[in-house]
Amino acid sequence: DNYYDILIVGGGPIGLACGIEAQKNGLSHIILEKGCLVNSLYNYPVNMSFFSTSERLEIGDTPFVTTNPKPKRAEALEYYRRIESKFNLNTHLFEAVLSVNKDQGLFTVESSKQTYTAKYVVIATGFYDIPMYLHVPGEELPKVKHYYDDPHYYAKQNVVVVGASNSSIDAALETYRKGAHVTLVVRGPEISPRVKYWVRPDIDNRIAFGEIKAYFNSQITNITEDEVEIMTEEGLLTIENDFVLALTGYRPNFDFLRKVGIHIPAEAPMIPEHNPETMETNIEGLFLAGVVCGGLNTHLWFIENSRVHAQMILSRIKELN
Ligand code: FAD
Repeated sequence: DNYYDILIVGGGPIGLACGIEAQKNGLSHIILEKGCLVNSLYNYPVNMSFFSTSERLEIGDTPFVTTNPKPKRAEALEYYRRIESKFNLNTHLFEAVLSVNKDQGLFTVESSKQTYTAKYVVIATGFYDIPMYLHVPGEELPKVKHYYDDPHYYAKQNVVVVGASNSSIDAALETYRKGAHVTLVVRGPEISPRVKYWVRPDIDNRIAFGEIKAYFNSQITNITEDEVEIMTEEGLLTIENDFVLALTGYRPNFDFLRKVGIHIPAEAPMIPEHNPETMETNIEGLFLAGVVCGGLNTHLWFIENSRVHAQMILSRIKELN
């Protein structure tokens, strides 16, 4: 009796949207989440603001009321927590899915706690669990972080921030304002055009005034306890360093997806095989939902444009049922 019509892997915003949709259609569901509720959002930087306005983050036709147009992390945590309880979703937290196997039309799902069977499985595991590593010597040192949390920690420290997209630029500005000495190392020639348009002038001016030192077309080549080596346009440079914030992006857990049996092309962007109209993968009855669908192209999907995956999946399930 560990049977559910739909088993959902991942308790992020899109996993929750799938649970709501299952319920609307009178199908039993379970959501298995390896961390806390909306675990990815919980692990965002504490002061982070969404780039989306709140109505674009809504699920279950339930208003997300905020006083500022763009919600903060804490407001989003509160919103999705209230959604989960309002819809009385069947969410199991701190329970990771280890394997999914299909046999005679039924899925067997092994978690860190139990074994389940389900007619349909939805994988909504996002991309925030695995960082894009720099692959340089010294990256394993504890002073190198791939997740950034709170700027206070970096006060008065020599901090190197790697990357030019929103996470890096937010971290560079925040730590600079808490008294860190910030050096920005950017592989390409410029700050990403995707950086939030209201943040852009701030970072441009801090760089122009020399308050944040930026090296473009540059890469870290070595990290030691108290120094960092950077290959810059002017040659190899060694600077004093206490912390490296390597915020160079994240990627989906391709090993897990492959193990489940989903086809993944060898070339970038490694988009896991699925029908874009139904979200069904190469395995009948097994679906992808949310940002995991973009493969390495993690900017393709976000909450606003992927919350509809829930309805698309349920339409297909009604067809199959
Ligand atoms: P996630 O929220 O990542 O949920 C996936 C869940 O699956 C996680 O909770 C994870 O713990 C769980 N999981 C993974 N593997 C397993 C397993 N084996 N077993 C069980 N559980 C598992 N998007 C926007 O729309 N607007 C924004 O403003 C925005 N800002 C962002 C800011 C940052 C710093 C980052 C990193 C991303 C931002 N995004 C934003 C993108 C955002 O992460 C996604 O839009 C949103 O989280 C996607 O929801 P999801 O449910 O697809 O994936």
